[in-house]
Amino acid sequence: VFIVTQEEAIENEKGRATDTKTWHYKANNVRDFAFATSRKYIWDAMAVNINGHNVMAVSLYPKEGNPLWEEHSTRVVANTLEEYSKLTFDYPYSKAVSVNADRQGMEYPMICFNFGRPSADGTYSERLKHGMIGVITHEVGHNFFPMIVNSDERQWTWMDEGLNSFVETLAELDYDPNFDTGNLPKDIVRYMSGDQKFLSPIMSQGDYVHQFGPNAYTKPAAGLYMLRHTIMGEELFDYAFRTYAQRWMFKHPTPADFFRTMEDASAMDLDWFWRGWFYTTDVTDIGIKEVKQYYLTDQPTEAAKKFAEQRNFNLEGRQLVYYAEAGDNFDPKNAKKASDFPFLNEYINGLSPEEKAELKEAPSYFYQVTFEKPGGLVMPIIAEISYADGTKERKTFPAQIWRYDENEINKVFKTDKEITSIVVDPDLETADVDTTNNAWPQETQQTDFEKFKNEMKN
Ligand SMILES: [Zn+2]
Repeated sequence: VFIVTQEEAIENEKGRATDTKTWHYKANNVRDFAFATSRKYIWDAMAVNINGHNVMAVSLYPKEGNPLWEEHSTRVVANTLEEYSKLTFDYPYSKAVSVNADRQGMEYPMICFNFGRPSADGTYSERLKHGMIGVITHEVGHNFFPMIVNSDERQWTWMDEGLNSFVETLAELDYDPNFDTGNLPKDIVRYMSGDQKFLSPIMSQGDYVHQFGPNAYTKPAAGLYMLRHTIMGEELFDYAFRTYAQRWMFKHPTPADFFRTMEDASAMDLDWFWRGWFYTTDVTDIGIKEVKQYYLTDQPTEAAKKFAEQRNFNLEGRQLVYYAEAGDNFDPKNAKKASDFPFLNEYINGLSPEEKAELKEAPSYFYQVTFEKPGGLVMPIIAEISYADGTKERKTFPAQIWRYDENEINKVFKTDKEITSIVVDPDLETADVDTTNNAWPQETQQTDFEKFKNEMKN
């Protein structure tokens, strides 16, 4: 709804008031205030239904903000109030106002100032549009953190900027699923893999951090996205996050209050995550060090012969299945499948239906995968396995897998299909700083020079 239209605003800006008028503002539960006044303002508003009560989403902008502002500002305010309320608490104020201002974004309770002006001819780039949607979402979002969940932004900048940037990311993706939020785990890799001399832990006093933006905004936001998406799951994360927001609204939480609530509301031990992501500048780097492949065969392997000899045991005439390692004097062409062994089939046929369902099929291929972790952070291992028949499968191991050995661990994959490749973190969920060790077999990248050398040899 337009309260002051562009035509009216153009009329209004021609004149100037000569008398005075006094406005008295009153608000409950606010920690700061700001106001804006101009005869140039166009004024539009819409009602937003927050769980049964109406909140007004409002925009004030000069004609220079159009056509961008009439199109997006109030809609973005409304979307922000809805999406943030879902993840925190019902927005308790009566309105949220977005005021157009040149080259800035600044937040106050119920009102904020946001950039975004098209060129004089009314055209604008996608970049400007996204910047404006981003800044409005962010500044309106500050109503929740720190205006209502009242953390100390001087001491712990990340508690409002980081949490706000995280919820902002979800709200932006809701407004436009293709929105480039810049706050996803993959977006923080460049910063985290930078020179350690210029990195500080998130848990540093706000005025003393290097690279304020990535440290207090992007890294905590990306970390929370990872917690929700990859580590805790949406349902559990959202419940815990909402508990934190509701428990601490109009109060003064410190970092420990956030860490503790996320843990006690979810019943998950997240100490390892807080410790690594918030208290250190360590990085994620998980890769595949080695894959040993074993085949089934009816021919005694060298190792089996040795084993039998040592124990005076005759292998002749016995029904045995041998595991042969690839390359170990063994030609994979001689590999057998589990179904090739009649006595194995007999055994499986003798099982109860429940046991059979459990077993499905006797595995024919065995892979011992050694995962290595050159990075200091512990993270879940997400492995995408591709099979020879073109199908794929995901296997995920929680971060606790590194408990007994934080450098490398072995996992055996038993399958009835041949594995053609394994890729760690295929969707770039864990901010892995070096993906050159993430695949088996290592994708061989030939440089032009090597190609040239090979051509010369032939
Ligand atoms: Zn901010």
